[in-house]
Amino acid sequence: MEKAELLQRVFGYSGFRPGQEELIDAALAGRDVFGVMPTGGGKSMCYQLPALMMPGVTLVISPLISLMRDQVMALKAAGVSAAFLNSTLTGAQMQAAYRNLLSGRYKIVYVAPERLDYPGFGSVAEKLNISFVAVDEAHCISQWGQDFRPSYLRIVQFLKELPRRPVVGAFTATATEEVRRDVERILELKDPLRVVTGFDRPNLYFEVVQPEFKDQELLRLLAARKRKSGIVYCATRKKVENVCQMLCDHGYAATRYHAGLPDAERSENQEDFLYDRKTVMVATNAFGMGIDKSNVSFVIHYNMPKSIEAYYQEAGRAGRDGAEADCILLYSGGDVQTARFLINNGSENEELDEVQREAVRQQDLKRLEAMVGYCKTKSCLRGYILEYFGQKHPALCGNCGSCKGEFDQVDITREAQMILSCVKRISDKLGYYVGLSTVARTLRGSRDKRILELGLDQISTYGLLKDRTRSDIHAMIDHLEAEGYLLTEQEHQTLRLTQAAGEVLYRGKTVTMLVEKPQEVETIQAVQKVTGEDAELLDALKELRMELAKKGNIPAFMVFSNATLIDMSKKKPLTMGQFKKVSGVGEIKAAWYGTAFLKCIQRYMDEGRE
Ligand code: ADP
Ligand code: MG
Repeated sequence: MEKAELLQRVFGYSGFRPGQEELIDAALAGRDVFGVMPTGGGKSMCYQLPALMMPGVTLVISPLISLMRDQVMALKAAGVSAAFLNSTLTGAQMQAAYRNLLSGRYKIVYVAPERLDYPGFGSVAEKLNISFVAVDEAHCISQWGQDFRPSYLRIVQFLKELPRRPVVGAFTATATEEVRRDVERILELKDPLRVVTGFDRPNLYFEVVQPEFKDQELLRLLAARKRKSGIVYCATRKKVENVCQMLCDHGYAATRYHAGLPDAERSENQEDFLYDRKTVMVATNAFGMGIDKSNVSFVIHYNMPKSIEAYYQEAGRAGRDGAEADCILLYSGGDVQTARFLINNGSENEELDEVQREAVRQQDLKRLEAMVGYCKTKSCLRGYILEYFGQKHPALCGNCGSCKGEFDQVDITREAQMILSCVKRISDKLGYYVGLSTVARTLRGSRDKRILELGLDQISTYGLLKDRTRSDIHAMIDHLEAEGYLLTEQEHQTLRLTQAAGEVLYRGKTVTMLVEKPQEVETIQAVQKVTGEDAELLDALKELRMELAKKGNIPAFMVFSNATLIDMSKKKPLTMGQFKKVSGVGEIKAAWYGTAFLKCIQRYMDEGRE
């Protein structure tokens, strides 16, 4: 089956996220790959999809047991035969897993790095047809990363001992150059295709508040997010205990997680959160890596973390499914002291020697400084983060605490049609393309000599935007170029239409743009919030999801993600065919859950008609 078809049929997605397709194609062509994408960017797909298309089996090396279990559960829910090998299996389960593995039953097997040099595993591995080894959370191999795991170093030897070197893929969200170089070097990737996607997560809203009383502020924030699921990160175990208690006292279904709790309680609490039996998880940074719960709709930091890397990774656990989510940091000066104390006294990594430890400490202090900068900046918060990761960004994002209030999302479809059509009319008339300023002047109805000489005052789009300022028009043209509807030809600096422009010109595709709030509202059309989802139906769908999850004994988000339910509530499918068009609905899930959801939607529509 073709990859796009598999993506649709197994995972229910109609298109690839940035970077995915290139990485998948390269791996399928037998080339090593290195994917650097933000948390929630969709790295798993980059090895899961090739795994289904390659002969033999794909090994995924992953640092955390909980992560393996969840991913395997999610794969099984999508109808893929997968398994994991780690210390939680009994001897008999391990033997059974090995047998299945040898008989070719699994396409994807998750393996803990420690397992790689178990003698039993080595002899099984030799007999397998391993096509692809995917190293997830690959930064764990670097001592400069935040989660150095010496066991990751074993991967290299393991690869060397295989009878045939498989395609090797490394995936991480770590953006620093140093760590990236380490990963490639230590893993000995062979001429890998490197894909570093943008780190922006547009669906995340960022805010920093400096409240007088954090508890009160937290309660206020939670009151506004009553039935939503979220994480509250605290710097210390003690804080976790206190905050969790406070939330429970106030009637919240909160639970806690930190390294000081017994294993059994930790995994029970984690499951309660995963399965939505508890809606708020209060935790230290021990909680999270590998938590792929996709419907986390807020991450609140009760304390400032130690670095932007840590913050972005923790905050990034919100909104993985692409639905809108909030990342709010409660800052106080005391947080800086706590963080500094933890850096100076934390002996997190006993495997490092004295010199290495000092180097890491210096680095950590530098990172802390940048984190404090984030809490204090008055400029765009998203911009600050992207800047830190060395990524270009607009001055203002319009969706963070600093930008909000000054910007509106404005529908400029009509203006966009005028501009695109003007570009087309001019080239129709002249037989060649012209530059931005000629287009803008034509739209403004300029009496400029050149415009008149060219006869551009004769075309139908002349003067259509005569009531708009020059800079307005330029900004819109720039925006259309950024959105991919216009293209500047480099040699002559002329503007031309792209194929995508047809969507706007002939098929009425909506174009929106962030515009600074005008002092007086004149020509700009009313703000259009792009929602359209039906809150009531969405609630009914969520209820049904919960029911089905309980029946199947899986977490709710593995039935469908929030993003999928939101899309469903917008599209309101009434037939199985329409149902499969909802983003996130694959063949297997359609077969399992389709009838129930269709019934629910039908009932809702019928009630509406009465
Ligand atoms: P990462 O490992 O990069 O943090 P994941 O692999 O966990 O991210 O993916 C995050 C979410 O995005 C998951 O819910 C996944 O199903 C979803 N996802 C992955 N690829 C796509 C796609 N092409 N279209 C829509 N959603 C996707
Ligand atoms: Mg991942």
